[in-house]
Amino acid sequence: MTLPPIVATSFVETVGESGMVDDTRRIVVIGAGPGGISSGYYLREAGYTDITLFERAGEVGGTWQRNRYPGLACDVWSHVYSFTWNLNPAWTRSYASQPEILEYMRQTVTDFDLWPHIRLDTGIANCRWDDDTAQWVLTTDAGEHIEADVVISAQGMFGELKYPDIEGRDSFAGVALHTGAWDEHLDLTGKRVGVIGSAASAVQSIPVIAQVAEQLTVFQRSPNWVLPKEDVAHTPEQLEAFRTDPSALLEHHNGIMSGVGPAIPFTNPESVKIAEWVAACAIEVVEDPAVRKALTPDTPWGCTRPLFSNDYYPTFNRDNVTLVTDAIVRITPTGVVTGNGDGADIEHEFDVIVFATGYHVDKFASRIPITGRDGLALEDAWDDGAQAYLGMTTAGFPNFFMLYGPNTNQGSLIPMIEYQVQYVTKLLQAMDAAGVGWVDVKRDVMDEYNAKLQDALDGIEVWKGGCSHYYLAESGRMVTQYPWSMWDFKAAVETPNLDDFELA
Ligand SMILES: Cc1cc2nc3c(=O)[nH]c(=O)nc-3n(C[C@H](O)[C@H](O)[C@H](O)COP(=O)(O)OP(=O)(O)OC[C@H]3O[C@@H](n4cnc5c(N)ncnc54)[C@H](O)[C@@H]3O)c2cc1C
Repeated sequence: MTLPPIVATSFVETVGESGMVDDTRRIVVIGAGPGGISSGYYLREAGYTDITLFERAGEVGGTWQRNRYPGLACDVWSHVYSFTWNLNPAWTRSYASQPEILEYMRQTVTDFDLWPHIRLDTGIANCRWDDDTAQWVLTTDAGEHIEADVVISAQGMFGELKYPDIEGRDSFAGVALHTGAWDEHLDLTGKRVGVIGSAASAVQSIPVIAQVAEQLTVFQRSPNWVLPKEDVAHTPEQLEAFRTDPSALLEHHNGIMSGVGPAIPFTNPESVKIAEWVAACAIEVVEDPAVRKALTPDTPWGCTRPLFSNDYYPTFNRDNVTLVTDAIVRITPTGVVTGNGDGADIEHEFDVIVFATGYHVDKFASRIPITGRDGLALEDAWDDGAQAYLGMTTAGFPNFFMLYGPNTNQGSLIPMIEYQVQYVTKLLQAMDAAGVGWVDVKRDVMDEYNAKLQDALDGIEVWKGGCSHYYLAESGRMVTQYPWSMWDFKAAVETPNLDDFELA
């Protein structure tokens, strides 16, 4: 028996009665990750019909189809890392693994019949606003031109891999790969592997690689706090209850959400201290005092992105795992050379080098050229770093909406993105009701919002701890983080106000 999807928040509850919408509006969505999929769902529910999701990859799922490194899993509870309009009774454990999340994405697209709206293998190379026709003109990677009344950029934040600037990086004769571009056919059994990096993807992949590699060397520039996570398999009884009783599933979802939704984890000094103490206790498992010391950060918890793993620290007790903290001097055809400044460099030989070195995350929609009113390039509009009103719209770019845009990183991203999609959907409904063709956020409204936001960010002590992290643009402005809670964001975007916009 197939049960109907379990909807935590119904469409009407979230975006209101669909009413009359202008279903001739041509809506283009860039990307078919969680943001694209949610856009397809809400816009179609609202009554829009001309919706196309352009996806550069040959598959939906975004982050979860692109990233396939060993050990990749959700780091927020899966029951709240779910579309609220399609809660998943089948999550096998508290923090689902990448294959399970990808399958959920695909199944969601199938169950909600969104495939007809999706064009795979079709990247958008650029977007240009035509002042005369008041339309967007998009060009695909293959050179096809597409016109649109509304563009939603759901390109995600993690689409551009970051490699370290190390002399000889391309000279390695063995296999070199980034965790974000993993080769699933790569067999690391019996191989000598070097992992460069000690942040999110390193913490997840190192324990898994260590189980099969002959020798694993971890190159750590600076240590990060890694918290344990209560990651348990759901029992057969729980799974049965979630599958057969929608209220049990909803209750479980709501229970977790009641903790995650109002949380602003970094602002409470007590919570920061507790988290640091818990992580410090977790490090105690490491037997070698020198390794233990090297793994212990001297920056406060929260200063860099929080990391979670139950296996990371114990992995350093394995005979086949070595931690190296000396600086990397260069990469050679056979391995990695390190030195501590005394001139006695050491070469570590490898069959495989893994770059667990993260992503460039500060460009948002401007990863592709976007030109707005009067020929304004988004890159120029953002020369001081990306900024937007409510993370979604930026002055000079009419009917252009971003999902997971500037300063929207908080808590669980699927619901965060959903709040944004609901806002855009409601705004379009309001525009239709008022007979408005396009909206462009007023600069003073955007500036006022960002002044408040940056003020609040300034007040978060742990982010001023001098850590090098991905939260900052080159200008030094914090462009990724949202300083308040998920529920604060939800409330802030609940009711779009046409007065915030210049209208045409
Ligand atoms: C390794 C990793 C682990 C993560 N874990 C978590 C987690 O546990 N919890 C959490 O809340 N968040 C996590 N995130 C953040 C995650 O990115 C978001 O939760 C979510 O996937 C964002 O959805 P999105 O649709 O905005 O972007 P994405 O998932 O990045 O999808 C964007 C899609 O747009 C496509 N695209 C980009 N540019 C173009 C273009 N020009 N033309 C056509 N298509 C394009 C891409 O191919 C991609 O499919 C993680 C991110 C990474 C990288």
